[in-house]
Amino acid sequence: MLRRTKILATLGPASDKPGVLEALFEAGIDVVRMNFSHGIAQDHIDRAAAVRALSKKTGRLVGILCDLQGPKIRIAKFKDTKVWLDEGQAFALDINLAAEAGNTEEVGITYEPLAQEVQTGSRLLLDDGRIVLDVVSTNGKRIECTVHVGGYLSNNKGINLQGGGLSAAALTEKDKEDIKTIGVIGADFVAVSFPRCAEDLHEARRLLEAEDCYAGIVSKVERAEAIEAMDEIILASDVVMVARGDLGVEIGDANLPAVQKKLISRSRDLNRAVITATQMMESMIENPIPTRAEVFDIANAVHDGTDAVMLSAETASGNYPVQAVKAMANICQETEKQRSVRESKHRLDHQFSRIDEAISMSAMYLANHSNVNGIATLTESGSTALWMSRISSGIPIYAFSSHKKTLGRVTIYRGVFPVYFTHESMDHVNVNNEILAKLKKRGLAKKGDTFIITKGDLTGEEGGTNALKVVVLGEGLTP
Ligand code: PGA
Ligand code: MN
Repeated sequence: MLRRTKILATLGPASDKPGVLEALFEAGIDVVRMNFSHGIAQDHIDRAAAVRALSKKTGRLVGILCDLQGPKIRIAKFKDTKVWLDEGQAFALDINLAAEAGNTEEVGITYEPLAQEVQTGSRLLLDDGRIVLDVVSTNGKRIECTVHVGGYLSNNKGINLQGGGLSAAALTEKDKEDIKTIGVIGADFVAVSFPRCAEDLHEARRLLEAEDCYAGIVSKVERAEAIEAMDEIILASDVVMVARGDLGVEIGDANLPAVQKKLISRSRDLNRAVITATQMMESMIENPIPTRAEVFDIANAVHDGTDAVMLSAETASGNYPVQAVKAMANICQETEKQRSVRESKHRLDHQFSRIDEAISMSAMYLANHSNVNGIATLTESGSTALWMSRISSGIPIYAFSSHKKTLGRVTIYRGVFPVYFTHESMDHVNVNNEILAKLKKRGLAKKGDTFIITKGDLTGEEGGTNALKVVVLGEGLTP
């Protein structure tokens, strides 16, 4: 059985080592993530080229997601790289302090408005919440704090404000520069970090389109405000990311499981794909096997209905990148064997205004309630594949398209597998035969198998799906 849940692997120094990218392909990655918080433009361009070349060589299309840094707020540097902070001591953040002048009493910050946006009593979380500072006073330039939770604090660590509320715009000057590089790469997906509202995502889309890039927009839900604006954020995105790292710091880790479930089910209801991210295999940065808790976390995300699970440092800089992907693939596949993961009550009481959408839903009803081996959908934009994949099922959905953009987009949809296909000037019987022949050639169909085919009368027309056909593979493949 094919694995339906997709694996997103972040590239970095660990995956740059000879042979590692090939091994990651082999282990089953579906999409790679280029993290624009690290490295220079050329690193990303080179990695994208390597991924494209391998996709071509192996015949396995792997999507490319470029992740913008966004307004991540950080402390500056210390004279001695790191300091120790005692609980109860005074410590200040100062926008006027030289970038490398930090010591045990004070350190610089990279985000000027911070000192105006916090108040006495605000709580600042540094280094993913490992260090906690309570604001005692601020004069608009310097924030005097008391250390609530101490420990080591080192250069450039991130700062989050508990409960959210910082005004920083989602797209920084650096992001706008990076969007030009992403235009050159021609990414399948672009992730926007720290969006507050739909407009942040519309802006990213406009800037990308100005570079002639029509990538799917991924909204990283990692601010408290984004939870409040959940539906508008989902609707402005093509894909939603449950960005558990920063989100957990802002809203508190204990709130994450409920928010993850809500975000996944809401995204599916609104016909959007969704990625579950951060610390899924954290211990595998150092160890060749995951903890039991990590195994359960991945399995639970699959049960929640996520399209994809993501690896960050595990594949970018960890010691066991290939093992992490293999373990993840294995857990997804075992979890998908559970009957409850394949059943769907999704949209049973829904009225559809579009024929193509109704046909997609009918195909899934047929697939889930009769003996069908697979679904082939001829798609221009990928919409039918997306609708189909919102329904829980165990039946693979093959998205046949001649469009690169569409094939790239479906790499992240749960249970959908891209197949390159042109059928200009072919008649309908021929199209059916060609589809089945292509599946057979790839070992995805055999004699006696039943397939559902959906397509439109006219080729090259979006939204034109108006036919659903059930075919059994015979000797000569004649349906
Ligand atoms: P990051 O985003 O890895 O870019 O910080 C993901 C997260 O915050 O979970
Ligand atoms: Mn983040």
